[in-house]
Amino acid sequence: MLNPERIVYVNGHFLPESQATISIFDRGLLFADSVYEVNAVLQGKLLETAAHGQRLERSLRELGMAMPMTHTALLELQREIVQRNQLDQGMVYTQITRGVTPQRDFAVPQGLAPSVILFSMAKELINNPVATRGLKVLLVPDIRWQRRDIKTTALLAQSLAKQQALDAGMDEAWMVEKGFITEGTSNNAFIVKENKLITRQLSNEILHGITRASLLQIAHELNLVVEERPFTPEEAYQAQEAFISSAATFALPVIAIDGHNIGTGKPGMITQRLRAIYIEKALETAL
Ligand code: PLP
Repeated sequence: MLNPERIVYVNGHFLPESQATISIFDRGLLFADSVYEVNAVLQGKLLETAAHGQRLERSLRELGMAMPMTHTALLELQREIVQRNQLDQGMVYTQITRGVTPQRDFAVPQGLAPSVILFSMAKELINNPVATRGLKVLLVPDIRWQRRDIKTTALLAQSLAKQQALDAGMDEAWMVEKGFITEGTSNNAFIVKENKLITRQLSNEILHGITRASLLQIAHELNLVVEERPFTPEEAYQAQEAFISSAATFALPVIAIDGHNIGTGKPGMITQRLRAIYIEKALETAL
């Protein structure tokens, strides 16, 4: 069969993607009243499932929702998406919305049946050409709402920022607020200075990245000094290395910020080491 359709999951059913539908009155569509997770898949196995499951539950809780099923049941759905699509390497996307409303009402309805959506995306994650080439980053103002710790699908500010970077001939945007870098459009931001790893501390101002947490753990095990604090664009321009982290990118080197070369203008050694160890360790607990 040529280009078989992806099998996706919607509200209890596995279907070819062209047959999967959702109501136009779903609060996820009308109000971005929904949360999501992205798990990387390597060797047909999902990475960091426990941490992503816990963050999903927390995001739901912060919006007054509960997990619509047990963590085990969700993991089974995610694994079935991998199997049905014969996914070897890529991502599984999971989204839960508050559900379908009878009216488009700003008041938040109670007791709706949540909508649950899952799909897979095939992608080469390990031999990502960007890992050897590196990313060019553009700094843009952070215009998002103040609860960035909740992983909601209200992603328009990030989407426009990413496009702004692409239009400027760069690969990614890092957002800046009150003179300090917050994070990337879909990743956490790190710099290395005097062999110290610097990344913004956790708060409601950034997403609490699962990959970020694991990379910091690895850094501690390598006896690297870690400073969790805000850093300025000037500090970033002069960094020895810089990189992003996310489920789908692991640690990925940044080689220029606003046209300033970072270090030698080539992917940094600490970044590459962290990336390699992350992949190795994440595979050990993959399910
Ligand atoms: N920051 C933002 C704004 C994100 O959207 C993401 C991932 O989508 C991350 C950071 C990285 O989080 P994780 O490592 O859990 O993928």
